[in-house]
Amino acid sequence: MLHLTSDHAAVILDHAQQAYPDECCGLLIGITTPDGQRSLLEVIPTRNAWDWEAAEQMANAQPSLGIDRQQDKRSRRYWIDPQDLLQAQRYARTLTHRDGTPNLIGIYHSHPDHPARPSECDRLCAWPDYSYIIVSVHHGVPQDLLCWKLDPHHQFLSEPIVIQPTGGDRS
Ligand SMILES: [Zn+2]
Repeated sequence: MLHLTSDHAAVILDHAQQAYPDECCGLLIGITTPDGQRSLLEVIPTRNAWDWEAAEQMANAQPSLGIDRQQDKRSRRYWIDPQDLLQAQRYARTLTHRDGTPNLIGIYHSHPDHPARPSECDRLCAWPDYSYIIVSVHHGVPQDLLCWKLDPHHQFLSEPIVIQPTGGDRS
């Protein structure tokens, strides 16, 4: 279960809309409580760094995906610069929270004109324990915001999300 606020959702949906027809991507900082519940603290939009070099790396790491270096554009793929990841990790360590240790808990990205379901590429590249938010964008308008998490067999399961209206007790 992932808890987020309507402000968090708005940041993700806005980013998805602005990036269209490309995929957007970003990082999720939050806490995991001992009972496995997650609360999102901050959304960090990042640049979609998919380029020829990223395609090359992906093609070598996951040959079964059949990455097409010419055809696979940022409208179909995303890539988070490792530097952005590192920076977000460092930033998370500067935060404190009464219910847990803030850390990177997941990644969000958008699917322009595709359902908010993980692709095979998403599955193969996913990390265990991360929450993956996917937003579908239809003709430039964000539609569904869904969350996914790997099971022990490296298959995605839907992770329920709870969106709290902003303005209540958010401390
Ligand atoms: Zn995807």
